[in-house]
Amino acid sequence: PTQAAPPITTVSQELFARARQVTPGGVNSPVRAFKSVGGTPRFIASADGAYLTDADGNTLLDYIGSWGPMILGHNHAGVREAILEAAVHGTSFGAPGWREVALAELVTRLTGTQKVRFVSSGTEATMSALRLARGFTGRKYILKFRGNYHGHADGLLVEAGSGLMTNADDLGQAAPSSAGVPPEYAGLTLVTEYNDPAALDALMAARGHEIAAVIFEPVVGNAGVLLPTPEFVAALHRSREGGTLLIADEVMTGFRLALGGATELLHLTPDLICWGKIIGGGLPVGAYGGRAEVMEYVSPQGPVYQAGTLSGNPLAMAAGLATLTALESDPGLYGRLESYTERLAQGLAQAAADAGVTVCINRVGSMLTVFFQAGPVASYTDAARSDTAAFAAWFQGMLARGVYWAPSQFESIFVGAAHNDAELNATLSAARASFQELKEA
Ligand code: PMP
Repeated sequence: PTQAAPPITTVSQELFARARQVTPGGVNSPVRAFKSVGGTPRFIASADGAYLTDADGNTLLDYIGSWGPMILGHNHAGVREAILEAAVHGTSFGAPGWREVALAELVTRLTGTQKVRFVSSGTEATMSALRLARGFTGRKYILKFRGNYHGHADGLLVEAGSGLMTNADDLGQAAPSSAGVPPEYAGLTLVTEYNDPAALDALMAARGHEIAAVIFEPVVGNAGVLLPTPEFVAALHRSREGGTLLIADEVMTGFRLALGGATELLHLTPDLICWGKIIGGGLPVGAYGGRAEVMEYVSPQGPVYQAGTLSGNPLAMAAGLATLTALESDPGLYGRLESYTERLAQGLAQAAADAGVTVCINRVGSMLTVFFQAGPVASYTDAARSDTAAFAAWFQGMLARGVYWAPSQFESIFVGAAHNDAELNATLSAARASFQELKEA
């Protein structure tokens, strides 16, 4: 393959050096630092449609979409105009406004929930939903799955995705995966393997009466893409039998895999659902919701406290409303995203095979991960067997050719409405060259 000319990244390098002086690791969220793939993270100056422009003026074909929110593409006219229109009327009231009502009506209708509370991030959504589950059930333990990520609240940084790997014992007890989380907190979080229905059944039989909630990613994005088996989905439903609440973390999958999220796709009936990302259309919004009987435990109606200075912020609500309205008014959109991503998966598999590089591609809807291993990959433990050095080299090949893939083996990429045939062809030719380069290295 022709060696890609190394792009000029002088301004990004200067900004990264300045950033490291004043911000830990130079970034405000860890994966952005390119730690696992190396090289200089690109500082982004602007974004439009499927493309980013970095601080040096390089154009990048974007597969991150701000890690999910930008399903309509960057700088979408309807979303931009809604934000600008809202800004004219004031940027924060600290009092309720009509947009919160309209967005709550829309979200409950699309997702089959009865009541919803808005917060400002996915982390807050899961943290608050768990407090609610504990308040509602009067139980203190929660159960999560190895390699699922639910934001960075203390009790959720236990076997949380691409970070530290420690193994839970057969009673589900595990060590925290971050410094600063007391073992006493981590001790309240039980962990078992994703896609292992027998392990889930056994843990529920042993400790279900103490467990307030089972929280899970219905389709995992944070270990790379993992699809739940029907047997696992059935075991999730069984886990509710003793009064444990089922919490679907749809921060990534909500409004992405379908208007009704993975819940709709998999015919799941959780007690509570958490959202983030798309629900705010690129502005900071999270939410949690479910049936009224449970949600009425939230203050001021009920005894579970949860609040936020910027909750229901008018600009953020405007972006969410414009995004969800645009999704609902374009019934063919999810089919088009699916078709693009399926052709991408097939093209990538062919390019890898032609170069003699072994990969396993997991895809659902517009989410996809290329695992550098033979597969199958159904759990974090499987994903962890990937050749991360090969992934890093391939990632650098893609970036040098102007394709901005997720900078970690253990992440999903996200396809949006602005990805069309030209983008698919450009991606596949970059991928072909990058696989060849990897084989020859
Ligand atoms: N849950 C899931 C499934 C996520 O993917 C994420 C973020 N990637 C979160 C929770 C946390 O959301 P936020 O980063 O908005 O706090």
